[in-house]
Amino acid sequence: MLKLRDWQEKLKGKVVEALRSKKVVLLNAPTGSGKTLFSLLVGFELFDRVIAAVKTHNEFFPYYREAKRLGRRFSFLVGKPNACLFASKDVDSEDIKCGLCPFRRSVEIEAQLPPAEFLSQLKERGGNEGFCPYYTLQDSLSKAEVVAITYPYLLVPWYRASIDVPLEESLVVIDEAHNLDRAADLTERVLSQRSLEGALREVSSQEARSILESIRKSLQGLINQGEKYVRVTNVSLVSQDELQVLADELEDLREKMIKERRIRRLHLGSVVKFLVATRSPDYVIYSAEGKLIARSFAPLSEFKEIVEKAGGLLLMSGTLPPKNYLTKVLDFGGKDVVEFNAEKYVRLRSYEAFDCYLAIDVTSKYELRETMASKYASYLLKIYYSAKSHVLAVFPSYEYMNAITSKLKIPTYVESEESPVESLAKLNERTLICAVSRGKLTEGIELVDEEGRSRISDVAVVGIPYPPVDDLTEDFSNRAGIPLHDFLRINAWIAVRQAVGRAIRGPEDRANLWLLDRRFEEIWWRKSLNCLNPRRVRL
Ligand code: SF4
Repeated sequence: MLKLRDWQEKLKGKVVEALRSKKVVLLNAPTGSGKTLFSLLVGFELFDRVIAAVKTHNEFFPYYREAKRLGRRFSFLVGKPNACLFASKDVDSEDIKCGLCPFRRSVEIEAQLPPAEFLSQLKERGGNEGFCPYYTLQDSLSKAEVVAITYPYLLVPWYRASIDVPLEESLVVIDEAHNLDRAADLTERVLSQRSLEGALREVSSQEARSILESIRKSLQGLINQGEKYVRVTNVSLVSQDELQVLADELEDLREKMIKERRIRRLHLGSVVKFLVATRSPDYVIYSAEGKLIARSFAPLSEFKEIVEKAGGLLLMSGTLPPKNYLTKVLDFGGKDVVEFNAEKYVRLRSYEAFDCYLAIDVTSKYELRETMASKYASYLLKIYYSAKSHVLAVFPSYEYMNAITSKLKIPTYVESEESPVESLAKLNERTLICAVSRGKLTEGIELVDEEGRSRISDVAVVGIPYPPVDDLTEDFSNRAGIPLHDFLRINAWIAVRQAVGRAIRGPEDRANLWLLDRRFEEIWWRKSLNCLNPRRVRL
């Protein structure tokens, strides 16, 4: 007989009732509190299937584990680049032209092993027996009772259409749902000098080459090198005929790759997809970091389709933003949304696991940033030398992080686009892990020992991690109808809570939280972070 934890016992009936009466449920429950099991238990009270949408493949495992525990049939889907027999992992799935592949058939399977292991065995079998692991996984979903997919397969309409699992008869769970305000990132299309240079090497006709050369010249006049997004209007880089020439070359390249059974990343694919996006009214074009970036907010406004279709919808996280923020950012189609907080019900407050320190002599306020960099470096040294284990430092931007870390002579791991997160697991000596607010480290690292206890003893929040005030942020807050100040503050709050969550992975963990900005003195911050009486410090 399954023994439920206190909060699961107390909330189960209420959540089932809310779902039964067609309300969307928001569940705030800390990491390690058993929310995966909880979601399956409430789901199977009402439906025959639970579909869990997660951010990364690593998050499939808890659903596999709990499905096995409940004796439910499990399956999952990874994108084509990960499942295809012939593709490298950096390929865009749209460049895999399966129609011509002789392996395009599926076989009956049941995932009896953890997802990562199962996938690697399936690929080996697929290669030997001549079937496609991707389509095999895709076909297996309709027979599973617990289905794990990544966000795009739920949130991006064209990916959602590719899977045959009726949302109507299922509880749809969106895990780590504090990420949902980032759903628009999933539709991003980018044009850079690098992709154009790559595309120039890939095309064979002179016509395509001269079109790409002309785009390259125009791009130079459109891009800005700064980190801030600047809106770019009237982007007309090619005519329809020129786009067709590039699209035809792309088609030929895709076919050639399938025939050769060696599917690699196509830069021309990125260029064509960007150019197509510029013709769609759904996309807004920005420039930042030397690139043009096309963004569609469709996943946010079309969220109502999921709300309407799903038999039940449960959004959960350990750091869920307030209801009035989520309901403005995402379109819930007017449905009732109800919030439950596991912390509140059982006094399982993750913040009781913290000793809070507030530095009153520093600030990352923009006009003072330069003069404060040395002071921040001194704080980080002080924290590093007093820490019991690794220190996670969170910075508002890459630029500021690099300015401060360049002053430090201690073991550091600095987040960058190239830095592999996996290498963190191998860190032995005490390290200052430097991450950017809401980047891949603060959202995704899990550094735990063999007993599952966190290996991060201190979290240092270097300044208030407001997102940059730029055209993208303004478009976002205007679209949602959230005043810019509130929008910035909630985003910074999510970032701080996410960073904090990296150090508390279970009920046994305890850590120090260093709020390194005097603006954290504001009552809103101290209250929202449950740090009402922090220990005030100065250098
Ligand atoms: S193995 Fe063939 S059918 Fe399967 S994803 Fe790759 S190209 Fe497509």
